[in-house]
Amino acid sequence: MSAPALRPAPLDVARVREDFPVLHQQVRGRPLVYLDNAATAQKPRVVIEALSRYYERDNANIHRGVHALSERATEAYEGARERLRRFLNAADRREIVFVRGTTEAINLVAQSFGRGLLGPGDEVVLTQLEHHSNIVPWQLLERERGVRLRVAPVLDDGSVDLEALLGLLGPRTRLVAVAHVSNALGTVLPVRRIVEAAHAVGARVLLDGAQAAPHLPVDVQALGCDFYCLSGHKLYGPTGIGVLYARLELLEAMPPWQGGGDMIRTVSFAGSTFADPPHKFEAGTPHIAGAIGLAAAADYLEGLGMERIRAHEEALLAYATEAVGSVPGLRLVGTAPEKAGILSFVLEGVHPHDIGTILDHEGVAVRAGHHCAMPVMERFGLAATVRASFGLYNTREEVDALVAALHRVREIFG
Ligand code: PMP
Repeated sequence: MSAPALRPAPLDVARVREDFPVLHQQVRGRPLVYLDNAATAQKPRVVIEALSRYYERDNANIHRGVHALSERATEAYEGARERLRRFLNAADRREIVFVRGTTEAINLVAQSFGRGLLGPGDEVVLTQLEHHSNIVPWQLLERERGVRLRVAPVLDDGSVDLEALLGLLGPRTRLVAVAHVSNALGTVLPVRRIVEAAHAVGARVLLDGAQAAPHLPVDVQALGCDFYCLSGHKLYGPTGIGVLYARLELLEAMPPWQGGGDMIRTVSFAGSTFADPPHKFEAGTPHIAGAIGLAAAADYLEGLGMERIRAHEEALLAYATEAVGSVPGLRLVGTAPEKAGILSFVLEGVHPHDIGTILDHEGVAVRAGHHCAMPVMERFGLAATVRASFGLYNTREEVDALVAALHRVREIFG
């Protein structure tokens, strides 16, 4: 008989909460219940300290300096690249491009891979649940290059209609660009299946991992994707920093998208030559401190273990899904079998913004709106939902506070 699989010890959430200074405060006279993690996550002390340590001891510009501080800053920045390579299990650190966040990562791919390598009639396949940042860059390309967008629909439970998506793939498909996890509904997309099918027709695959990387272990080699995008600030790291992972042979073939210092080999008025990836895509002074802070966040997450984080959040989401069922007139939007981190809902007869405001008075921070995913809102005939989104430090007691506050909304609105 084979030994039973070892389950990781559960996350010690009470201990973990001690690592996040911001959580320990009262808001409007109540203990803060922070359930807006999909918008941005709070930062552990190790990230905050990595930022201030860098500014206190090492601050200098990178790559070009000949002095000690510049050497240290360069080492720390390039070390951060290696840390992110490991976090995503990329094969080579040159496949890690530092960008401002997911939005910039997708725009880089649209402007460089898209503008450089796609032409009229080439097709880009998206889904109806994409964030605006995985729609609009492709629409700009559509206008400019005559690229054709094809959009896979979403089913009633918030899953992507996989059969329909697979049916859109064909000889003209050049790229499939989809969310790994939906920010509006929490749906986890069957990305491996999508990668397999896209590669079978010779298309490349971009995964928008903004909402996946904080919740699931991400292994870009196991996923087999060609591009993977994430935002540091949703991953318990600083704002203004993110990662584009791309296969080295693609980065080598792709033209630069922004010109300036650090991305060149030589410059003359007769013509310039460009640096090798990833520097070819990192024009100008990057967010050095941000990369170092993001590496600290990756260290922190690896220390806790992404599998344990996933298990904790899955249990919490299941608990919350059941618990909100006690609120009369509440309807969940997005009930796909596989979800991560997000509970989106509406309450009959009450506008989501009013719910958000009342919850705020109870100390509960959520998001109310279209979540930058207007097409999927329209798919459900809604202008907005309330979104509670969970992070590794959230607890059942906080879910109970959310549910109690929702009962309060019901009392007020009848
Ligand atoms: N994609 C998804 C799925 C997101 O949730 C977000 C952030 N809400 C983005 C892209 C854009 O990320 P950022 O604003 O950090 O660039």
